[in-house]
Amino acid sequence: MKYYSTNGQVPPATLKDAVLKGLADDNGLYMPERIPLLSSDFFASLHKKTLREVALEVAAALFGDDIAASSLRDMVYGALSFDIPLVKVADNLYSLELFHGPTMAFKDVGARFLARMMQHITRNEKVETNVLVATSGDTGSAVANGFLGVAGITVTVLYPKGLVSKIQESQFTTLGQNVCAVEVEGTFDDCQRLVKQAFLDKELNAQRRLTSANSINLARFIPQAFYYFWGWAQMPQGSEVVVCVPSGNFGNLMAGLMAKRMGLPIKHFVAANNANDIFLKYLQTAKFSPRPSVATIANAMDVGNPSNFARIMDLYGSDHAKLSADISGYSYSDPQIREVVKRVFDETGYMLDPHGACACEALREYLKRDKRAKGIFLETAHPAKFKETMDDILSADIAIPQKLQAFMSGQKQSVGMSNRYEDFRDFLLKQP
Ligand SMILES: *Cc1c(COP(=O)(O)O)cnc(C)c1O
Repeated sequence: MKYYSTNGQVPPATLKDAVLKGLADDNGLYMPERIPLLSSDFFASLHKKTLREVALEVAAALFGDDIAASSLRDMVYGALSFDIPLVKVADNLYSLELFHGPTMAFKDVGARFLARMMQHITRNEKVETNVLVATSGDTGSAVANGFLGVAGITVTVLYPKGLVSKIQESQFTTLGQNVCAVEVEGTFDDCQRLVKQAFLDKELNAQRRLTSANSINLARFIPQAFYYFWGWAQMPQGSEVVVCVPSGNFGNLMAGLMAKRMGLPIKHFVAANNANDIFLKYLQTAKFSPRPSVATIANAMDVGNPSNFARIMDLYGSDHAKLSADISGYSYSDPQIREVVKRVFDETGYMLDPHGACACEALREYLKRDKRAKGIFLETAHPAKFKETMDDILSADIAIPQKLQAFMSGQKQSVGMSNRYEDFRDFLLKQP
């Protein structure tokens, strides 16, 4: 399978080149040349399969041309080392809990798959691959944990000193092994500049194999399609299923749209936004107008220029009418999100995190228009990741799961660094 750029200015790339590059040279996003349609036999037997079995069949349809079955099996089974339960919250309303991975957020799925894919495609190379990632918090932890212990690859996480939360910092500074945390005297923008300069440094790249694990990498968004098949199969048989996705960069929704294109009978999608409602505005006006993001309590969705919009446009041939027939949108202010978290907890006992709350409410509103359908919303993070906000909303002291506590009690290991490129360069050259 070849992968083309959504900007169409460069020739299609192999899987290996597309994954190692991340972004195409014309700044477009890679898309598979063919989206395979799965057989009716596959769908008929889906509900009898495990999550890993379902994921492997979907992965084989997408990557089977390029990767041997046994390698693909290792990749999928290794990435999906945790459950993704579907939990009934109320009549016709189900939560697909994507937060049971190592960092307790759904990005674990994409990051763990990407790590194993990168290891596979670089396995015959003598040099170690170094993944550089600048983070303001959550990306660093998903990527670092995704690559933890993966042979042949080191991860260097750059983060601004004093500007990430303690719990976030602990999730990438306590790991050790092949993960190195660099604490930069500066801002997130400084961290990003250092990483960009390193990629552009020809001399450095001649001596070291550097790559990124950016959220636009195709091997991060495609594996997110797996759990749409799984979630659908767990629903009462014969249901008309609507799926609601709390969205920021729209990689997650894009994966769902791909699953539908592969034949998964999802009746409709709902995109839930916080106050950053650029996509909703597009649905309403047919105009895409990116604007600076505003900070909200559902901060992983604070995106003013959703990067996967280009992929969604590509999938629908930029046809607004066709796209609107498949996707509806809603947006919520912080006070509304707080009200939803409180109300759903009081009425059902189910604790939503601020991102899941947007999705749950958007789905509830949509289902008022379609009384025959049943809905799944994606719950993308464990509420304890937002403990201060949650405690305040619920007037409680919510428990921190063992998994998160373990990070916080680990020993911090990080390298201090100035924000000068020369220092970062020297550091990279000294790495083995
Ligand atoms: C990243 C993230 C999102 C948004 O996902 P996209 O694929 O960028 O739309 C939603 N919720 C949480 C908790 C996230 O970390």
